[in-house]
Amino acid sequence: MGRVYNFSAGPAMMPEEVLKTCAEEMLDYHGSGQSVMEMSHRSKWFQEIIDEAEKDFRELIGIPDTYKVLFLQGGAWTQFSAIPMNLMKNRKAGYVITGQWAKKAYEEAKNYGDAVALASSADRTFSYIPDVSDLPITDDMDYVYICQNNTIYGTRYKELPNTKGRDLVADVSSMFLSEPHDISKYAVLYGGVQKNVGPAGMSIVVVRGDLVTEDTLPGTPTLLKYKTQADAGSLFNTPPCYTIYTCGLVFKWLKKQGGLSVMKEKNEKKAKILYDYLDSSKMFKGTVDKEYRSLMNVPFVTGDDELNKKFIAESTEAGFVNLKGHRTVGGMRASIYNAMPEEGVSKLVEFMEDFEKKNG
Ligand SMILES: *Cc1c(COP(=O)(O)O)cnc(C)c1O
Repeated sequence: MGRVYNFSAGPAMMPEEVLKTCAEEMLDYHGSGQSVMEMSHRSKWFQEIIDEAEKDFRELIGIPDTYKVLFLQGGAWTQFSAIPMNLMKNRKAGYVITGQWAKKAYEEAKNYGDAVALASSADRTFSYIPDVSDLPITDDMDYVYICQNNTIYGTRYKELPNTKGRDLVADVSSMFLSEPHDISKYAVLYGGVQKNVGPAGMSIVVVRGDLVTEDTLPGTPTLLKYKTQADAGSLFNTPPCYTIYTCGLVFKWLKKQGGLSVMKEKNEKKAKILYDYLDSSKMFKGTVDKEYRSLMNVPFVTGDDELNKKFIAESTEAGFVNLKGHRTVGGMRASIYNAMPEEGVSKLVEFMEDFEKKNG
């Protein structure tokens, strides 16, 4: 079997070019006589790999020196605790609940202080983003937290919230590097890399320098202190070396594509192909309010469980894999991250058109 079009929400598709470089460099990385997998994280080769990865990542987003970039283990979920432990000096923060990931971050934060739900879209199964122009934010809140693209429900913010002068913290796991990020708007921008950047095993945390201090909540584990990690250049203990290397290759691939503005155009074009079809189809329907549609995660349904099952079985057979929707939404979900070529989306739409004709 050749390579499939993988619509998984994560771990997800990687650029083929990057996988080929990994294969070429597998046994002997740049004349070192070793694989990156075997290499000491204190070696000069690995130091170059991590330095270059950080440099390229900073260049892609346009991150000034006033922000720290951390490559951390533990996935995005670990940050649900690390964020309050590092930032909740007044033990109070506001959370906007737009889906399961935002809710889990909110519930985790309750372990450390007064986490306040500022708004929620739970009333309509998280199918929209609530109005965030005038939230009940108070001056004693340490930060305002959002999940900017909701992986499970397929919504995204059109505008960032008015935080009334409070720091903004955003989980961008499922939209990381899919479009430009204006870092000046955030105190912390972070995400797990396995959705839109690289293989599983790491989060990247971009945090404003003045927030990286010894002043963390009592009991904060050494490894979860941003200061520990920043002072050691993400090399305090053994980092996820191979994931950092692979992400570095993806950063180079993104630069070669033309950077994040070009990725945004490509992603808009891909998403439009699928949404235009969903809007014209009599069988398939999108599940969220149009104005908040994600460019990355596209949930859709037929309204008939048996037909959904048939579609998932037949599409898998045809090489379009992992289209089954999240269990809380049902139906289907196509995740069309950076590495999904336009051809993958247009071929999926052709398949859907054909399925609709045969089963309509
Ligand atoms: C997948 C996901 C997470 C959880 O990521 P892990 O790396 O598995 O901890 C958190 N937030 C968002 C938006 C996600 O999509």
